[in-house]
Amino acid sequence: MPNALNVSQALKTPGQIFPFSTEIEVEDADVFGETVHFAPAELTGTLLGAGDTVSVRGELRCEATMACARCLRPVAVPLCVSVDERFSRRRDGAEEEDAPEGEARCIDGAQIDLTDCARELLVLELPMRVLCSEGCKGLCPICGADRNEVSCTCLADASDAPEGTERPDGRFAGEVTNPFSALKAMINSDEEV
Ligand SMILES: [Zn+2]
Ligand SMILES: [Zn+2]
Repeated sequence: MPNALNVSQALKTPGQIFPFSTEIEVEDADVFGETVHFAPAELTGTLLGAGDTVSVRGELRCEATMACARCLRPVAVPLCVSVDERFSRRRDGAEEEDAPEGEARCIDGAQIDLTDCARELLVLELPMRVLCSEGCKGLCPICGADRNEVSCTCLADASDAPEGTERPDGRFAGEVTNPFSALKAMINSDEEV
């Protein structure tokens, strides 16, 4: 099983903290039309067993690659997420379908699979948009040229679309936003109230 972590020690010795570090392969994610690539992630933390459960706490580090919101060039996005997840051992003889709702994190034998957990946490952590540089000139909306490399004259010619057609909110028209981040921002602002 890829991305599996053996938790037998933590199960055998409840109450004792076991430090660990492991690498997790994270599949590319489709985030509303954009494919986000993840480099192998590094999870460093501790395991703590209690009865039929093992808590995984630590820090997940990964470098994602997203497209620049203006010119679509790939941009490296370092991510660091804190992890606090609990995995439960299935009762003997219980079928997978019998698992109660919300008990998605299972201990299979003496192993836990970190694939889904890591991917979910990283997707939520993706920024709403990235820029290759603050001064990125973006693609020409008329001819599609990368205006960082080519200085086409489309925008200079069009009187109704002057140079620097940035909207008042600081975004360029047609930029891709990440709804997960927007959702997260809403959740965070709720907590502050
Ligand atoms: Zn750019
Ligand atoms: Zn142009």
